[in-house]
Amino acid sequence: WENVKNSDPEIYEIIQEELERQEFGLELIASENFASIAVMETMGSVLTNKYAEGYPKRRYYGGCQVVDKGEILARNRAKELFNAKYANVQPHSGSQANMGVYFALLQPGDTFMGMSLSHGGHLTHGSPVNFSGNIYNVVSYGVNEDTGIIDYDEVREVAHKHKPKIIVAGGSAYARIIDFKKFREIADEIGAYLMVDMAHFAGLVAAGIYPNPLDYADVVTTTTHKTLRGPRGGMILTNDKDIYKAVNKAIFPGIQGGPLEHVIAAKAVAFKEALEPEFEIYQKQVVMNAKTLGDELEKNGMKIVSGGTDSHLLLLDLSDMEVTGKALEKGLEKCHITVNKNTVPKEKRSPFVTSGIRVGTPALTTRGMKEEEMRIIAKLIVKVANNVKDDEGTIDENIKNEIIKEVKELSDKFPLYKEL
Ligand code: PLP
Repeated sequence: WENVKNSDPEIYEIIQEELERQEFGLELIASENFASIAVMETMGSVLTNKYAEGYPKRRYYGGCQVVDKGEILARNRAKELFNAKYANVQPHSGSQANMGVYFALLQPGDTFMGMSLSHGGHLTHGSPVNFSGNIYNVVSYGVNEDTGIIDYDEVREVAHKHKPKIIVAGGSAYARIIDFKKFREIADEIGAYLMVDMAHFAGLVAAGIYPNPLDYADVVTTTTHKTLRGPRGGMILTNDKDIYKAVNKAIFPGIQGGPLEHVIAAKAVAFKEALEPEFEIYQKQVVMNAKTLGDELEKNGMKIVSGGTDSHLLLLDLSDMEVTGKALEKGLEKCHITVNKNTVPKEKRSPFVTSGIRVGTPALTTRGMKEEEMRIIAKLIVKVANNVKDDEGTIDENIKNEIIKEVKELSDKFPLYKEL
């Protein structure tokens, strides 16, 4: 970072401070991970200088012969990783990927169906505060409020009643394996497209430990920075040539200009890493860690939505406890443990307060933590939950310092970015 240090000491300080925060805290946000140094170096490379509107071999700028190679490599690796015929690696983010598919397959005012935000869907699955809820007519499904599992009867009922053109499966806070076959059947019954947003569990799919949605869906979107552990970005996959063509047009020139070729090359680096046998071992550990964390939290009296997890995340249901989602998030943050508050089924509190906490294990597993550490972390979470005094997360100084000490011991034992 010497050049940043010399030219912009303020930003240098911020980078250092953030590195320290990541290094000496416990990152349990389910959608975050630590990309490899190779991925980060690629993002910081000269590839950022190149304009390359269009697609490889069909660009609107000269001098694209080199970045073309990077984008082709990224596409080919993505196709190999997910067993897909076509890949568009240009979406700047997961939201852009979803927008690209909607623009490709829907007209403004058309109906599509997604999982409601309060039950685990993403903003781009039709929330009224998002473009998806503004441009389109949205109908929603959710989970069975008693079991926490997707209510497939409701999916069928809403689908038959409203005949959406697209059914979106996938979400941001759903811990269980989604029954893609059932979604496919329902989509076929009404002649709808099935789109799967695998942003959260793409890494698990890549490792072969979660069903591959490409076996059922017409089109699959994802982010590349969550369980997949690549750079911040998005991607669209399909086996259907017509959909691929429509999606390509929707992404460029539809909603984006020049692709981020430095990020696309970093996606290629991450896909190469994900094709290695170690990646499967890593993803298996991610899931084992999430299961262990859930079991230990339950043993210590906390309730888990759906009773556990099949994936990298857990949703804690605090509705029987005094502590709110907001209070626990803030209290944990004061102890250098990062999570996010989340609504739960039968939510009674506002989305700014909530009765839930979402936790995930991808980032800590990247640091090398295993079941033993998860048991310690579960106890720390419970300790904070039992001791926060208000929604600002106020916690007795002595207890806070004890927890910070344990967090520091864990982070020292599993150093992050030793090379930096
Ligand atoms: N889809 C799902 C399921 C997500 O969880 C997210 C982000 O959290 C997105 C899409 C959007 O991704 P991005 O934040 O890159 O726009």
